[in-house]
Order: sequence, then C-alpha cells, then structure tokens
Amino acid sequence: MSSSADHGAEIIVHLARLAHSGASDARLTPAQWTALRFFARANRLSRTPSAFSEFHATTRGTASQTVKSLVALGLLERHRNEDDGRSIRFELTPAGHEVLQQDPLKALARALEALPQPTRDTLFAALRQVACDLADDRQSPAFGTCADCAHCESTSEAPAFCRCAAATLGASDMGALCIEFSPRRQTRKDGEHLI
Ligand code: SF4
Repeated sequence: MSSSADHGAEIIVHLARLAHSGASDARLTPAQWTALRFFARANRLSRTPSAFSEFHATTRGTASQTVKSLVALGLLERHRNEDDGRSIRFELTPAGHEVLQQDPLKALARALEALPQPTRDTLFAALRQVACDLADDRQSPAFGTCADCAHCESTSEAPAFCRCAAATLGASDMGALCIEFSPRRQTRKDGEHLI
C-alpha cells in the first residue's frame, strides 16, 4: 500500500475518534451514539439490532446489548411491525431525539459544511466508493440511500420505485439508510469503475 493511502486511512480513523471525543452526554459510549444515529436514519426495514450489527461491523450479541442499554436509558423503544405482526423494530423516543440534538458528530458535519461544495461532492463520492469497496471485501452489506441504489428506478426526486421492496418511495424513504442497498457503481477486478 502507498504511504499516502496509509496516511489517508489513519486520517479517517483519527477523524472518527476526534469526532466522538467531544460528546457532551457522558452517559453514552461511541457505540451507543452510533446506534442512536443509525435508528434515527435507517428505513423501517433496517431498524433492527441485526441490521445495526451489520452497519456497526459488530456481532449480533454486542449490537443487541447496545440496543438494550439504550432502551433502558429511555432513548429507544420496541415496536411490533404492522406488516407481519411478529417482527420487532426499534424507534427513537422523544428523549432519544432530544439527546441526538447534542450528537458529537455535528462538529465534524460543520467542518465538512465549511468546505467548498465541489470539494465536498468529490470527497463524499470517494468515501462512498471506499465504503462500498471495503464492505464488498468483507462481504458485508454496503449501507446507502435510494439515490445511489441499483434497486431504485430513479435517481431523481421522490416519488421513485424500489424494485427490491416493490414499493413506491417517498421523500423520507429516499434519504434513509437501507440494509438492502445495492450500490449502482460496480468495481471490476482490475479496479476500474464500470459506471
Ligand atoms: S431503492 Fe435500495 S436503498 Fe432504497 S429502499 Fe429499495 S433497496 Fe433500499
């Protein structure tokens, strides 16, 4: 690996640690913040401990413990899915939404917001590609949103149609994280992007 790639990888890890170091709510660990953020951003299909375990690259047991701890703090609550009446999904409580207002990641978001738009667009596209390649390498799901998903019939504004869920997507669905996400951009073995 080139030294610039090594350095880039170190910067990404350092940024993640730095971002969480400013947490104002000392009750929550970085894993709990990540879970809170995940359950606020994921679509209905993905608001489960097993989807969170894939997103957080951890075991199902560890993910379940994190979810249980947030339920005990009154920040998450269990809901039975209306669709099948059996499966369970988790939702933020009003207290969970309130705590998320103090998300330590907001400082990182502000620093990114200060970058010129073209730089941000290039950076986000590159990071998305790296996340997809790494997930592919680890045989993990690559989380993303509808606009970049191969199952979505349109990349423009909602409403669009999801071929995977066979459902129409509204504006709130389009911006949500999804465990069934399949990246449009495919990478060939020689490293060249097909799209
Ligand atoms: S289009 Fe893709 S990201 Fe959107 S709901 Fe369907 S599977 Fe999930």
